[in-house]
Amino acid sequence: MRTEVPLIKEFDPAALPKGSMQFFWLEIVTDSFAEPVSIPLMVAKGRYDGPTLGLTAAVHGNELNGIPVIQRLFSEIDVSELRGTIIGVPVVNVPSFMRKKRRFNDGVDLNHIFPGKADGNVSQVYAHRFFNKLVPHFDILLDLHTASFGRINSYYIRADMEQEETRKLALLQDAEIIVHNPPSDGTLRGAADALDIPAITLEVGNSNTFQKRFIRSGLEGIHNVLCHLDMVDDDIAAPSKNTIICKSSYWLYTDAGGVLSLQADLLQILEQGQQMALLRDIFGNRIKDYLAPEKGIVIGKSINPVNQTGGRILHLGIIKSLT
Ligand SMILES: [Zn+2]
Repeated sequence: MRTEVPLIKEFDPAALPKGSMQFFWLEIVTDSFAEPVSIPLMVAKGRYDGPTLGLTAAVHGNELNGIPVIQRLFSEIDVSELRGTIIGVPVVNVPSFMRKKRRFNDGVDLNHIFPGKADGNVSQVYAHRFFNKLVPHFDILLDLHTASFGRINSYYIRADMEQEETRKLALLQDAEIIVHNPPSDGTLRGAADALDIPAITLEVGNSNTFQKRFIRSGLEGIHNVLCHLDMVDDDIAAPSKNTIICKSSYWLYTDAGGVLSLQADLLQILEQGQQMALLRDIFGNRIKDYLAPEKGIVIGKSINPVNQTGGRILHLGIIKSLT
């Protein structure tokens, strides 16, 4: 049976009763039938005062692992003991979620245009209204993403490791890798940071699928954040991994087209000059080898062998330290 969920136009968490959990459809824009395009909104308002934690998923419409992470968190939270409020948006990019696509329905990457524009074009106005209706209510933001289609990722975090609070939030995730990455313009994380809202990005596995292992890891990281913010009485789970911290990272691209085979695994540490990929022509003849330009760890990689000049090979992290 489908549960009836109220449609609202504005959202004010202060007006909700303490000790309640409620779900809403929050109208953002209207479509060409003049019908509302609304985002699903989950709100757990604790019985006691405390901070507001914002959780967002599917800013890219095919990045799904964050959705069950938020759903499960809400199924486990006890609002009669919670201090503060958790606001979860399991799907930010509703038009793209329905099309199973990364980009917004005008072809724009939503995570390059935050905080949007009040009188802007289709994607800009969507980003603006989403951002302004919700993000100013957050004290902390965790934005859940995955790898893009045709690539796979380790479980890694993007965070500004030079900011005290975002550094702490990142370390609480028990991720395989943390990449130091100052908040950049246009991302949801960057736009939140511009409002002095500490924000990190969780890259939780791969696109277009639900992956149990990553969903568990994401949930545990959020649980640890709730403990750290003193919103629940529980203990931070002891880290199970030796998180590798990277001071920077970058993608490596091919300089020729052909059929590409990757010879490096996720989390593999490559030495400078080590072979990472082999390019062949369509007859199977070897065109060239790609070697690691410096020592680094494989954060993510392409899994699609069809490769035009400039195709992605892998995402190399330059290691700073082991925690
Ligand atoms: Zn993403």
